[in-house]
Amino acid sequence: MNRLDIKRSMSALPEYLQEIPEEVRKKTGIEVEFKEPDAEFKTRNPGMAATSAGVEIDPDNNSIIIWLTPAGLEKGALIHELLHLKRNIIDSVLKIFPNSSSPVHIQQQTFFLENDFEHLFILPEEILADPEREKEWVEVYKNALEKSRDRVLSLYMHWLVLNIALPNQTELIAECKSLLHGFPPYDVFGAAESLRNQVQSSMPDKHKMLNVLSSILRPELRSHMLIGRYVSANGRLTAECLGAL
Ligand SMILES: [Zn+2]
Repeated sequence: MNRLDIKRSMSALPEYLQEIPEEVRKKTGIEVEFKEPDAEFKTRNPGMAATSAGVEIDPDNNSIIIWLTPAGLEKGALIHELLHLKRNIIDSVLKIFPNSSSPVHIQQQTFFLENDFEHLFILPEEILADPEREKEWVEVYKNALEKSRDRVLSLYMHWLVLNIALPNQTELIAECKSLLHGFPPYDVFGAAESLRNQVQSSMPDKHKMLNVLSSILRPELRSHMLIGRYVSANGRLTAECLGAL
């Protein structure tokens, strides 16, 4: 039995969000499905295995699924996933994809980097639609900072999201800053600030933003990443690859 009461949750949202699945159907011919994550989903999407919600776009099988746990739905994650869907399919924004032959941990890392860059746009819009969502993100970042204290790339991404998308969270920003200062003799904080500055001044141009990202990634990681986007033509969805990151 599907325990997700999508209709009821959807009807509580602002109208422009309710219309997203129908706009996607008109553009791609694909009916957006809503499902609870199963074991198969977690194997196919290792990057999303631990999350309570996610969008899976599969042009090869002509399918788009919004995966939501009942707890995720309860907390309002539907807004977040609809905004991901809108940017991916309706706005056709540029993305980084992992090379399909990349090891699983690289695929996960690519997913997280792409996700963090999208969150720079999505979180402010999500919080505008439902101010309660900010509390959820505060909890997410309390945990994320704790787990990332020795991981520089993760701290860089947290620094971006906290400053750009959650600028009122001064305590979390201060906590992240003190973690970034924890790598003497390297000026990791200075590097994080320079990254934030370059990314923020490149917004909303995702191509420019991804170029900035590319400049800080180790070549052995960057070599697994491709730049592309979802495009729809003649009622058919395809993933268009535009080359290496
Ligand atoms: Zn997300």
